[in-house]
Amino acid sequence: FIYLNHAAATPILPRAAAVAADVAGRLYGNPSSTTDFAGRAAGEVAAHARRCCADSLGRRPSEIYFTSGATEANNWVIKGTLWRAARSARRHLITQATEHASVLESAHSLRGDGFDVTILPVNSVGMVDPADVARALRERPDTALVSVMWVNNETGTVQPVAEVAEACRVAGVPFHADATQAYGRVPIGLGPGPAPDLITLSAHKAGGPRGAGLLWVRAGAPGGVPAPLLHGGGQERGARAGTLNLAAIAGMAAAMVDVGRDFEQATARLASLRDRLETRLVEALGAVVVGNRTQRAPHISSLRVPGVPALELLKAAPRVGAAAGAACHAAGIDPSHVLVAMGHGEQSFEVIRLSIGPQTTDAEVDEAAELLLQVVRSLRSVKGLRTP
Ligand code: PLP
Repeated sequence: FIYLNHAAATPILPRAAAVAADVAGRLYGNPSSTTDFAGRAAGEVAAHARRCCADSLGRRPSEIYFTSGATEANNWVIKGTLWRAARSARRHLITQATEHASVLESAHSLRGDGFDVTILPVNSVGMVDPADVARALRERPDTALVSVMWVNNETGTVQPVAEVAEACRVAGVPFHADATQAYGRVPIGLGPGPAPDLITLSAHKAGGPRGAGLLWVRAGAPGGVPAPLLHGGGQERGARAGTLNLAAIAGMAAAMVDVGRDFEQATARLASLRDRLETRLVEALGAVVVGNRTQRAPHISSLRVPGVPALELLKAAPRVGAAAGAACHAAGIDPSHVLVAMGHGEQSFEVIRLSIGPQTTDAEVDEAAELLLQVVRSLRSVKGLRTP
């Protein structure tokens, strides 16, 4: 089996797995109970994990809020920021068409509650135009938040984050970037230059366990910390109630330390493996790269294979674990909203996403390419199509 679906979930890194197992087996205390020794020991592990995550982002521990993953963090930023800003009559959100469903669905849910949402279009390679963001901000001075993802999970396209950040800075509006697919793949600068005010991360997209993530909120960000989505025992400085998933958080922190340390080497290797895989499929099959060819993350290759429906291809090549640009539902097959927003229409059904990780080997990439070549040739010949 050749796993080429690292954009969906990554295998856990060995040290992250060991740390998570150790914490799960040994530290039974509640990290917010300071009156007993077990709680204090757990609290120290949570504090250490917070420092590791903050260090990996080059930021302060007090700016980190642990969550159950990026879905929760995205829901929290969108809803919590708009709820808080509504008190000052800011009831407008700006986002863009290729966001993850956790952003888009959160935005849609607000519409029913009297909020307004502008969803900006993208160009044919999936990029939002920062001038559109600036224009939307000028037209709507009641904007409470701009949310534009850092890296798209289907195409790997990198958004013009610094330019969007600058437009938001001029307007004094907080800027959130979903950095779930960016962390560990492209440089994330959160320094004093133009950068987001809030980012979301998910542990399992970068070598950590499932069920942990974080929201980073810059100290002094214009909108402040979003109003809580979860109310209860006052954890996370009153911003996100609920006992922390300590084992997953400790595993995430360990993964972030290792991913940060290996960043340069790992990303260079990912880019070269991706190019090796892509070149073979483009040259031998006439596959077409979807998304931005220059400004993109190194772990995702989104390819249209003309004449071959992606779901058929993946079914006929079960040894290759990858994703399609369309999803089956009870009612039929839906094309991905990302590809539709980029203007792909019917062609979306021919798009596959191959995504690699640090564990992927040269041999696996070569074998996957050969398997896909054979399967595409035979599917095309059944349809009376020729492979160039
Ligand atoms: N945002 C992006 C860009 C993603 O790729 C994903 C996962 O597919 C998510 C958010 C959701 O992450 P999680 O699985 O941690 O909820």
